[in-house]
Amino acid sequence: GSFADLQLNEWVVGHLGSLGFNKPTPIQYNCIPPILKGKDCFGCSKTGSGKTAAFALPVLQKLSEDPYGVFCLVLTPTRELAYQIADQFAFIGKPINVRTCVVVGGMDMLKQAHQLQKKPHIVIATPGRLADLLRTNENNVKLNKIKFLVLDEADRLLDKMDGDFTEDLNVIFSALPKERCLQTLLFSATLTDTLNEVKELSTKNPFFWKS
Ligand code: AMP
Repeated sequence: GSFADLQLNEWVVGHLGSLGFNKPTPIQYNCIPPILKGKDCFGCSKTGSGKTAAFALPVLQKLSEDPYGVFCLVLTPTRELAYQIADQFAFIGKPINVRTCVVVGGMDMLKQAHQLQKKPHIVIATPGRLADLLRTNENNVKLNKIKFLVLDEADRLLDKMDGDFTEDLNVIFSALPKERCLQTLLFSATLTDTLNEVKELSTKNPFFWKS
């Protein structure tokens, strides 16, 4: 298959060629069309299989059609992954001047709050820091207009649930729009028991794909 088969706009397909993305990976080929149709999507696939672009491409295409407000929240377990994801969004989204914001621990919290107030299109966060920002909400950070929630490396996000992540995720989820207004995309390398709990995050009969 080719990117032109996937209901992606011409600007996306043309730009991908110039990036050297000549052919979609299996997760991209299978998950992009249902995501563009508005379905929730749970993809099971290893790191390196192109899963970042599998969610970044349809999110950026939808963003180009509706460029208003904070559009997508990506939750990921580590700082390193957060920066990698932000780089890929910036790289693929260059033609539409996508604005991203990384919200992770160890960096200046006030600065992150200011960046969030500027309404970036894509917020990439680790749960702990974002939850802290929402708890101390003197900064008036708003996530109530988000259209896409991405849980990247969901198995690892949930591994930490025994720690502080459960509480953090609850704080974040309660700041998001109601589930029916939100499209949830979940990617994970493995399917663990905890992941079954996460399936409850979507009552929308998600499209499910496993490599
Ligand atoms: P990921 O699995 O998202 O970490 O992606 C692994 C690497 O593959 C990243 O550096 C991407 O830029 C690259 N990549 C993703 N999709 C494609 C594609 N269709 N063609 C070529 N490279 C790709």
